[in-house]
Amino acid sequence: MQSNILPIDYEYSAVKKAIDKMLSTYNFLRCKPIGRSCAGREIFCLQIGESDEYVLYAAAFHGSEHITTNIALRFVEEVCEALLTGGEIAGIDARRALYGRGILVVPLVNPDGCEISIKGEIGAGYMAPKIKRLCGGKFQKWNANLRGVDINHNFDAGWNELRALEKAEGIYGPSPTRFGGYSPESEPETRALTELCRRVKMRHVIALHTQGEVIYWSYGDKQPARSAKMAEIMAAESGYALEVPTGLASMGGFKDWFISEHRKPGFTIEIGKGENPLPISALPKLYDSVREALILASIM
Ligand SMILES: [Zn+2]
Repeated sequence: MQSNILPIDYEYSAVKKAIDKMLSTYNFLRCKPIGRSCAGREIFCLQIGESDEYVLYAAAFHGSEHITTNIALRFVEEVCEALLTGGEIAGIDARRALYGRGILVVPLVNPDGCEISIKGEIGAGYMAPKIKRLCGGKFQKWNANLRGVDINHNFDAGWNELRALEKAEGIYGPSPTRFGGYSPESEPETRALTELCRRVKMRHVIALHTQGEVIYWSYGDKQPARSAKMAEIMAAESGYALEVPTGLASMGGFKDWFISEHRKPGFTIEIGKGENPLPISALPKLYDSVREALILASIM
């Protein structure tokens, strides 16, 4: 799908502009801040439709994976456009498919980390000297938030065990990647999501990351039986592989926490293949690879 709204440039100010433009184009689309990052940037949550329970999509947990913000916004635009024009999504009339359903999208969970990866030293603000030291000048690769905490290691799911694994890897404190913080949910970006999920009933959640072309759907044996079936459908639509995470990737993440606290399906989709950050030129192909899976997830 060709976007009418989204810039190819997606630093924080451009993301805000794109959201504003969508809000003025689609008057049924809503947007609320659900928290603020360490640097005070708003974390936005977009809402399409109203329901007793929502499907939540969240993107850009990791700085170097900022392309997932654009994928999430493209998804919002496609759904909104279909609703506005009476078009189809996943081969079904969008208005009928989404009748009585609700979609929430948090396109940029870690705005500070993404700003650091996109803009380097300038994006790091007053933390620039420390961040430069931690990442050896490789700002592009930065995954953590402004304080050097990896948001996807900061959720309260096997956190102590994960902390021990991090230490075994030599990660004791703030780091460009994989430091889970000094306590679970210590970071405002993490709490923005956990508080949202405690306040609003979710049917299932989807976390967007890059890269690997895989879908993670389990957390030990805590997920409900329907998780496997749903993951199979998304894998069939995208051609991505289903995998069970191991080691440092197997705990502390958003989907892990959601599955264990809510006992409902949670998924991580690792979009595309290559080295993070994936080039913006890959965006149309990346979006195409997951669009059907994302759309189906909204009506499953
Ligand atoms: Zn990631």
